[in-house]
Amino acid sequence: MSALALFDLDNTLLDRASAFARWSKRFIEENDLPSRAWSVIEHVDVDGTRSRRLFFDELRAQFGITTGSEDLIARYYVDYPACFTIESETVEALRLLRSRGWKVAVVTNGPRAQWRKLEVTNLADEVDGVCISEVVGAQKPDTAIFREAARTCGLALDGWMVGDSASADIAGGQRAGLRTIWMARGREWDLTQDSPDAIVSTIPEAVDVILQSVYGPALSA
Ligand SMILES: [Mg+2]
Repeated sequence: MSALALFDLDNTLLDRASAFARWSKRFIEENDLPSRAWSVIEHVDVDGTRSRRLFFDELRAQFGITTGSEDLIARYYVDYPACFTIESETVEALRLLRSRGWKVAVVTNGPRAQWRKLEVTNLADEVDGVCISEVVGAQKPDTAIFREAARTCGLALDGWMVGDSASADIAGGQRAGLRTIWMARGREWDLTQDSPDAIVSTIPEAVDVILQSVYGPALSA
């Protein structure tokens, strides 16, 4: 097995839910929206999976926002990435993994603007490669994006994939021949789907699983 560890970005390495909540609070204030707006925004967001065009089209329709969707989207890609922070435990865990000779890459579905999240949090300095679907031209669960991530690290496509999406990260990783770790985020695994190799709540736990797979429990700490 290659010493290759691939990580999803949103709600895996970075707490996207908290960042989005911070952006929403500001958006609600700036647009003078009613108090029920947060639950609508959260619903329309679909955990970040809906296109921002549809997202803002619907918010404009629901709340009578007069600013055009194009302008709202342009502003969003400035304001929203700036809302991201990274936990020090995550940085320490990635440093531990890399200190043991592992190559670490981010594999994320999304627009080029995903880069700003890595810059704002300095996460770009903590990884060996970054693959963003819009840049690569393939998105998870397509094996092509995992293969590209391995290539940027100079390794064969063989190792681990860590992520919070059962379809994109776990099923995609399994199909690419990777071992997988699911970030549960308080959810139960759907037992009708092929199980990941491990289920964890934090990045340090995921790194522990990866290191134990090689060194065993005694030497992984
Ligand atoms: Mg994710």
